[in-house]
Amino acid sequence: MELKYVPTTCPYCGTGCSFNLVVVDGKVVDTAPYQRSPVNEGKLCAKGAYAHEFINSPDRLKTPLIKKNGRFEVASWDEAIALIAEKFSQYKGEKSAVICCARASNEDNYAMQKFGRVVLQTPNIDHCARLCHAPTVAGLAGIFGSGAMTNSISDLSETNCAFIIGSNNFEAHPLIGRRIMQAKRKGAKIIVCDPRCTPTAGQAHLHIKHYSGTDIALLNGMMHYIIKNGWENREFIEARTSGYEEFRDNIMQDEYSPENVSKITGVPEEDIKKACRWICEAERTAAVYTLGLTQHTCGVDNVRSIGYLQMLTGNIGKPGTGVNPLRGQNNVQGACDMGALPDVFPGYQKVSDPVSVKKFEDAWGSEIPAKTGLTIPEMIDAFADEPEKLKCLYIMGENPIISDPDIAHVDKALKNVEFLVVQDIFLTETAEYADVVLPALCYAEKNGTQTNTERRVQRLRKAQEGPGVSRNDWQIIADIAKKMGCGEKFSWTSSSEVFDEMAALTPQYFGINYERIEKQGLQWPCPGHDHPGTEVLHSETFKGMPDGRAVFSPVKHRPPAEETDENYPFILTTGVTIWHWPSGTMTRRSKTLNYECPTGWIEINCEDADELGILEGDIVTAFSRRGEVDVPARVTPDIKKGVMFMPFHFWECRANWITNTEYDPISKTPEYKVCAVNIRRKEGA
Ligand code: SF4
Repeated sequence: MELKYVPTTCPYCGTGCSFNLVVVDGKVVDTAPYQRSPVNEGKLCAKGAYAHEFINSPDRLKTPLIKKNGRFEVASWDEAIALIAEKFSQYKGEKSAVICCARASNEDNYAMQKFGRVVLQTPNIDHCARLCHAPTVAGLAGIFGSGAMTNSISDLSETNCAFIIGSNNFEAHPLIGRRIMQAKRKGAKIIVCDPRCTPTAGQAHLHIKHYSGTDIALLNGMMHYIIKNGWENREFIEARTSGYEEFRDNIMQDEYSPENVSKITGVPEEDIKKACRWICEAERTAAVYTLGLTQHTCGVDNVRSIGYLQMLTGNIGKPGTGVNPLRGQNNVQGACDMGALPDVFPGYQKVSDPVSVKKFEDAWGSEIPAKTGLTIPEMIDAFADEPEKLKCLYIMGENPIISDPDIAHVDKALKNVEFLVVQDIFLTETAEYADVVLPALCYAEKNGTQTNTERRVQRLRKAQEGPGVSRNDWQIIADIAKKMGCGEKFSWTSSSEVFDEMAALTPQYFGINYERIEKQGLQWPCPGHDHPGTEVLHSETFKGMPDGRAVFSPVKHRPPAEETDENYPFILTTGVTIWHWPSGTMTRRSKTLNYECPTGWIEINCEDADELGILEGDIVTAFSRRGEVDVPARVTPDIKKGVMFMPFHFWECRANWITNTEYDPISKTPEYKVCAVNIRRKEGA
């Protein structure tokens, strides 16, 4: 028997824990701790501990598939690539779009966005950051000059006060939750703002149960009270920011008095004041947030507001402080860094900047579209409602028929795509719509890198061969490029060659190569080959801002796109469970995780359930203006009256049948966290 341990990085959340894959006779059979990781120090949550279980599922894709007469037939690579090259050539330009993948490696995403820009000549390039943290990228870049987490995971354990808003990190990022618990054990105050009593809120010293969609009012109210008491950090404001006066004038309006904010948010005044006192008494306060803050029609302004709270109190640029967006997918940070977005090239170099366009045209030896393309929601709208505008779609590893809002709308869009290619490790629900399906390697079968939420670039390592004739994503992309006559621009022979090409063009990654991250990852920005990486951003100046200063500007509370009324009297919010990961493609194929949590549910407050005559376990129909879905009820005091919650992983009870497609005007991120719904017991159930 041959036994080996292959260190790699977890394929689930953006925490980026390391572990060993245990390989027996060439096959991955288990995971084992990797103690040297500064991220997780050998610990894992259940998803990481069982991250080997889906790898050898019998239903892994093993060959290309071509749909003929409505049925998939096995095809060779030559047949599949010839067909794709012929069709893609017909749709070159703005009639085509590509969706990159936050689960795939940096190398795969770099290759895919380059393919879109160089081979397909389309600016329509996006990925699922659009659905989660695009408001972070836009919001923080606007005020700090960088859209990334300012601090490091490990320094969260050094904070004296954790202000957590819209983040159930004990379930979504458990190994970051561990750092917050370490801080708590050392005496830090924990404040959690969430309409649900989540496991994270259960650990808080103060749980602020505000209504979904009232974050700006809450944050403005807190900042109003801080300024009124003279607790703001004047030294920081004067030395390192601009725009304060106008910002303060907005905040100090009566609208944001604690009394009025209490009415808007449903939070007792005393709780608002207590949170302010704790934040301002602490030497170091860290703000932590996730999708509870971003998935709103005011997501960018929500993000700016949390940035302003930290600027106002001088909690930027030191360990244990900062604005800490916890990125969702394992490599959503990296996919953004790689330019898998419609408005930026790798390293956030703008497509609207002629200097950047020339740089990439020279490097890639090709003209490229110098304009901002469509985001995913705009692509879906175009396919659904203006099919003459978009015809062809190439999806790598994403599953929009589960993960995007208003599934009836997505279904219409996917059915309208004239030529759809899906590249994935399983025949996903979205792949069923495809004309051609291409089998890709999973994380355990390839070399590469991914970048976690704290900007740490870490290695993926090949532990076993892939099933059948499956190939690395970037290799598939390069093969199609070759068939389309662009072979010399995609002539890499290894993942590290892809990485080196990318790093040479991406200032934040310039000093990183495979050799340097062999034992431990490096945090960008890492601008030189002897640079140690950067643990805390903005320590002396805001380098991305023209004058080095962070910018305050007024932000106003505005209600969600959809408010409750007599027909839809409840607010639905959505999120994750500790046992599963977004559309469940991998976790639902894990025997252990699926055993622990086999299906979805809707959480209903006990009083609401009483009034509606709904009992625990009843099958109910939840419905909105867009559709309806049958789902088991969980009756609980752990959710605010008037609010309901559904996890979004489950095909058979998809929350997204009823969610709203309205999106933030800047980031185009849909408002998953608030829609108006109603509920009834299912007849005959
Ligand atoms: Fe994987 Fe996230 Fe769990 Fe770490 S916390 S083991 S990265 S799912």
